[in-house]
Amino acid sequence: MDSQSENGTTTRSYNGVLENPNNITIKGILKLLIESIDSSANGKRVISLGMGDPSAYSCFHTTAVAEESVVDSLQSRKFNGYAPTAGLPETRKAIAEYLTRNLPYKLNPDDVFVTSGCTQAIDVALSMVARPGANILIPRPGFPIYKLCASFRHLDVRHFDLVPENGWEVDLSAVETLADHDTVAMVIINPGNPCGNVYSYQHLKKIAETAKRLKILVIADEVYGHLAFGSHPFVPMGVFGSITPVLTLGSLSKRWIVPGWRLGWFVLNDPQNIFRNSKIIEHIKKYFDILGGPATFIQAAVPRILSQTDEIFFMKTLKLLKQTSDICFERVKEIACISCPHKPDGSMTLMVKINFFLLKDIYDDIEFCFKLAKEESVILLPGIAVGLKNWVRITFAVDPTSLEEALDRLKVFCERHSHQ
Ligand SMILES: *Cc1c(COP(=O)(O)O)cnc(C)c1O
Repeated sequence: MDSQSENGTTTRSYNGVLENPNNITIKGILKLLIESIDSSANGKRVISLGMGDPSAYSCFHTTAVAEESVVDSLQSRKFNGYAPTAGLPETRKAIAEYLTRNLPYKLNPDDVFVTSGCTQAIDVALSMVARPGANILIPRPGFPIYKLCASFRHLDVRHFDLVPENGWEVDLSAVETLADHDTVAMVIINPGNPCGNVYSYQHLKKIAETAKRLKILVIADEVYGHLAFGSHPFVPMGVFGSITPVLTLGSLSKRWIVPGWRLGWFVLNDPQNIFRNSKIIEHIKKYFDILGGPATFIQAAVPRILSQTDEIFFMKTLKLLKQTSDICFERVKEIACISCPHKPDGSMTLMVKINFFLLKDIYDDIEFCFKLAKEESVILLPGIAVGLKNWVRITFAVDPTSLEEALDRLKVFCERHSHQ
């Protein structure tokens, strides 16, 4: 009776969120979760495993080379003016060289456009493929910015599933079924947010072949590029650019742990020159004339950041992510009412499924997260925010001590709400 009435009130207080789950944004729901916490009531410090911004933890710190490059470019007084709208030439060249290291062909600086983080690269990609009646295929679970951006561009969205039992690989038969004459592109996020997947060479090749058959572009979100610590190495989608053209989106945000620097890229991988001399390139150039890219002095720091970052920095980050993802995966295994179907191989997040049969007074992912926040001051992201209801996303890019404490509290919480 008690739990019934409590469920009644909690459901009511989440109504604002539940009314239109289509409009949930990650930032929006995390804000509501944090506001719902009354730390004085439970006496626990807030630990957020909700947002993917590890720069909040001192153990995730960018490299000194990156900081020095920015300081030097700022103090040189040479970069206080506007940059060309597509980006500084030396920055475009440096990004082309950086990405070419992992490709079987050479990128041209003209193929690279500098953006304000990967977020703006997403906007550019979707704006470029949008036309009346067009649709785009995006992964579920996925990154909500794609859907939000598509709605502003009047681009219809169709979801294909990522299959947890197959390491969150793309359900390619679903892609074939969903696509029609108005489909213009499909989005791949690799290494993946929210699932922590890192796709094999073979799977990526199959994706490229499917896209070729369907005559659609591949938009490859590689914002977590190289953040792979499992059995597969990271393979950029651009490797298959000769099968089908690929738009590669990336940024410094995740690999260099500087999301606030807002430095990203939009890159055409088109070794067959399908777009060369086409109106599309002109169209992209014009579009950049209306965008304000990242600050010029940050752009000017990029060549040194990309060429001089010590391998040791990358290895340290990967070691830490491997350690925290292992902690997360092992601890989740010890909790009866939740399960993680696939050990993460990369990125900074994993997805966990809630088994509601084992819970006595919690009925969906939103309620799970709000009760967890209220009782334990631990923030997790409800799966619905990434398109997968009744799952939760856990960010493991957190200092190991806080992570262990948060997972201890999660365990206690789950036990408290389980049937005896
Ligand atoms: C973080 C993230 C972005 C945005 O990157 P920024 O460089 O911070 O704009 C884009 N896509 C995915 C999948 C992300 O996780």
